[in-house]
Amino acid sequence: MSEYTVHTSTLFDPKRLAWLENVSITVNKINGLIVKVTERKGKDTEVKDGDIDLRGKVVLPGLVDAHTHIFLHAYAENPSVNQKRDESFVERIIRATNHCRIALLSGYTTYRDLGSESMKEADANVRDAINRGLMPGPRLFVATRVIASTLAYEPRNENHIGGTCMPAGCDSADGPDELRKAVRRRIGYGADLIKVYADYRRRIMRFPPKQQHPYVTEINILPDDPNPDHNVFSDEELRAIVEEARMAKAPCVAHAHTEEGVIASCKAGVDCIEHASRVGDAGLKAMLDGDVMMCPTLSVVEFMHVKHFPEILKTVKKAFDMGIRIAAGGDTGTFPHGEGVREIELLIQAGLPLEEAIKSATLRGWESCGGDLCGRRFGWFEEGCAADIIALDSDPRTDKNAFRKVDFVMKDATVWKQAGQGQGMLEIGTPQRGNYLTKFGLDAEQSW
Ligand SMILES: [Zn+2]
Repeated sequence: MSEYTVHTSTLFDPKRLAWLENVSITVNKINGLIVKVTERKGKDTEVKDGDIDLRGKVVLPGLVDAHTHIFLHAYAENPSVNQKRDESFVERIIRATNHCRIALLSGYTTYRDLGSESMKEADANVRDAINRGLMPGPRLFVATRVIASTLAYEPRNENHIGGTCMPAGCDSADGPDELRKAVRRRIGYGADLIKVYADYRRRIMRFPPKQQHPYVTEINILPDDPNPDHNVFSDEELRAIVEEARMAKAPCVAHAHTEEGVIASCKAGVDCIEHASRVGDAGLKAMLDGDVMMCPTLSVVEFMHVKHFPEILKTVKKAFDMGIRIAAGGDTGTFPHGEGVREIELLIQAGLPLEEAIKSATLRGWESCGGDLCGRRFGWFEEGCAADIIALDSDPRTDKNAFRKVDFVMKDATVWKQAGQGQGMLEIGTPQRGNYLTKFGLDAEQSW
C-alpha cells in the first residue's frame, strides 16, 4: 500500500506555535510526502492495517540541525587540525556514515552541513548516497568547501618548507572575479548553498596555538584573546560572492563572530549569520534590517567560549526579542553527532519559549536551507511537505530532557526507528529517485 496514516494525540505545529490534539497525518510512501492532515473529533480512531499509532506520545516535525559538519567528530576526542591532518579520507567517510545514522535516529531528518572540513566535495557525495537509499541519514544540504581569502582559514603550521603539508580546508580566492569563479566552482561541484568566512583568526601565526605548539609564549600583548577575529574580505569581495550565489538561486551564509564581520556580511546581503558570538547592537540591527537569520551555534560556544557564554546567551535572547529569526544549529560534529538537541535546550536556557525553540529547530531550519529554493518543504505538517515525523516519549512542557527521548523517527514517509523495535533501522529506505526533480518537471539530469 502506498499510503498509510499516522495517528497522534498530541502534536506540535510550528507554524501556528500551537499544541494540537487528535491529529492524523496520511503519508505517501512513494513520493515521501504528506497527503493530508486531519483533526479528529476525539482521541479514538480506526487504526487500519499498516497505520502507525503514536497516540500517547508527543509528536513533532523531524528536526533540522542548521549547522553541522558530518566529517568532524568531537574536538574533545581529537582537535580538528589533527583530524584533517591524520585521519584518512576513508576513515572520515566511514565516520560520516556513522554520524548520519546516529543523527537520524536521534530525530534529525535534515542537516544543513556547513563545510566539508578538508574533505573536498565528499559531503555532496554523502548527500547523494543518502538520497539514493544507500545509507540512513538526514536529508543533507551541503556547502562543500567554504570560501575564504588566501590563508585566512587553511590549517596552518610553522613548517612550510614543503608547502603546508595539510589538506586544503576551503576554497581560497581573492578579488571579485576570482571569488565569482569560486562560487561557480562550488555550485558546479554540487553545493546546495554557499558558505563564506567573513571573519576569522587570520593572524593566528603571531601567537601559534598551544595545541600545536606547546611552548610558552611570553610576548602576549592581548591576554584576553591573543588571536581575535578580523574580516577576511573587502565589501566588494563579499558582494561579489553573494551576487553570484543569488544568480544560482543558492542561499549564502556567512561565518562571522565579530560586529565588523556581521555588519559587512549583512551589507553584502547574506541570508544567515553563523555564530555571531561577539555581535553588538549595530550588528543586530543590521541583521534585523536585512532580515538576515541568526544561527548562534550555542552548543559549540558553550565549550569554546566558556567565559563569554552567559553574555552570549543574553545576546541571543535580545536578537530573538528584536524579531531576528533564529535557526537552531549546534556546529554539531565539534561535539558528538546524536547530541544535536543540546542546541534546543540551550535556546530555551537563553530565554526562548519552548515553542519558539522547537520552531527554530524545524520551520526556521527549513528557512535556513533556503525555504522553497531548497526544493523540498519540511519542518511542519501540511499537504505537500516531506513526511518527516518524530515522537518523544515524554512531554517537553513538563520534562526538560524530553528531546533526548526520541522513540520514533520517520523521514520521507519511511520509518527508521520505532519504540519497542530497538535502536536499529526498521527498513532500508526506499530510493527516493526523482523526488527533487519531479517537482520541477524533470525526470533526469540532462547536460545542455
Ligand atoms: Zn561550523
